[in-house]
Amino acid sequence: MITHVYNFLEQRLLTHFDKKLFVENSGKSISYNEFDIACKKLATTIINKEIYQSPILIILPKGIDCLISFMGIALSGNYYTLLDEKTPLERIQKVIAILKPKLIITNKALNLGIDTLFPQDFDSFSIDNEKIMQVKEKHIDTNLLYVFFTSGSTGIPKGVSIAHKSVIDYTFWVCETFKFSDNEILANQAPFYFDNSILDIFSTIKSGATLHILPTHLFAFPAKIMDYLQEHQINTIFWVPSVLIYFANVNALKGYDNLNLQKILFCGEIMPTKQLNVWRKFLPQAIFANLYGPTEITDVCSYYIVNRDFKDDDMLPIGKACKNTELLVFDDNKELIQSSQVGVKGELYVRGCSLSLGYYDDKQRTSQAFMQNPLHDKYLDLVYRTGDIVSYNEFGELLCYGRVDNQIKYMGHRIELGEIEVAVNGHRDIRNSACIFKDEIICFYESDNELNLQAYLKDKLLGYMIPKQYIRVDKFQLNANGKIDRKVLYEI
Ligand code: AMP
Repeated sequence: MITHVYNFLEQRLLTHFDKKLFVENSGKSISYNEFDIACKKLATTIINKEIYQSPILIILPKGIDCLISFMGIALSGNYYTLLDEKTPLERIQKVIAILKPKLIITNKALNLGIDTLFPQDFDSFSIDNEKIMQVKEKHIDTNLLYVFFTSGSTGIPKGVSIAHKSVIDYTFWVCETFKFSDNEILANQAPFYFDNSILDIFSTIKSGATLHILPTHLFAFPAKIMDYLQEHQINTIFWVPSVLIYFANVNALKGYDNLNLQKILFCGEIMPTKQLNVWRKFLPQAIFANLYGPTEITDVCSYYIVNRDFKDDDMLPIGKACKNTELLVFDDNKELIQSSQVGVKGELYVRGCSLSLGYYDDKQRTSQAFMQNPLHDKYLDLVYRTGDIVSYNEFGELLCYGRVDNQIKYMGHRIELGEIEVAVNGHRDIRNSACIFKDEIICFYESDNELNLQAYLKDKLLGYMIPKQYIRVDKFQLNANGKIDRKVLYEI
């Protein structure tokens, strides 16, 4: 029975002892066995500090030390939060005020008055298998594994708390659905504080695969990334659409004839079909899958494996529920929308073992987002309100139009800004777009030329949906997760 993410590693030690598990782009690597030893050393040190079922804060760059910290903390019976090493002190302090960590793991001199461990000392720690065993014996799968902080509209970050069982369930689903084996060679793009990385890390361990860790800044240089993918014969990637869009826009795949990419998964924002078509043209044999989900449901709750052709301005479905997950679509009156009601929009709710255990130390915001299933009141049955507007298409797949908060009322009409963006993105000379609402709809678009979009959109959208103002940008500013930073657009 698997109840702890460490069980994945334990199983693989029996079969893949000396195989490379994680590889940094510098060439540094660690085998399954070396990783296990490092995790046990860290776990023992934490157990010796008598810290148990408590939060531990990590502030480290993306790399092997960070992964040792994740697993070592989990093995010690505690849970982790990772903050980017570039996080401003003010935000670190905000997170500390909520989390109250018992320990910090960092290589920075932060002087926060909290007991600190430094990765350069990991090697000198010793292992006490007996103590580790005692902690493991007590473990149950509803214990927390991590708390990831997302930005909150009030300025106070929200600590999304995720248990082992949710990550285990998700990892099984990924490995079964995408037939992961020990032949998988993955290249990670997602920062480790973004939950897309959960797929990379735990599916790699479970399947006996190898994960290459690529630094975020390298993605500004598509040729360097493509060289790396080709040289290391990477066959599986799970990246955010922004990166795939950028690579398609600069024709980054051209000339790479010996790529071994077979599985291309993406999640985190709308993937425009125009750029997807560019990828599909270069890699006609590869599997492409659109995964959807918020942090609160452990990364992914629905998926669509691309199985038909799409025009450049079609909307790519987010598909159907992952196994062991139920998706419910409700209208404003909390009436369930059935899959037969093609095109009727509602808000998406999710239920299943993937649900977060709530926002850390924030009962109020937890109860707003995690609520009793509107379909009954017989027993406790929580659903998560995603805030995303969806509808069914004729295949029973869901289409995602964007956030409730991206929904606007304009002259009495209800409009999803995501819908306009899809139409704009279909234009041949546009690399990406984002619409905001400030008294009127403003469309920002990334292109080399000023374009007459008003005329272009006349045939594509209802009159009231056509933006009044158009602002060309050379390049969108991205947020920490690599998505378009919409807050910046409101300030222009
Ligand atoms: P995050 O919690 O940062 O992962 O953001 C979750 C939000 O990103 C979701 O609620 C959606 O609005 C959006 N999102 C995630 N995946 C997709 C997708 N495949 N297509 C469209 N929007 C997505």
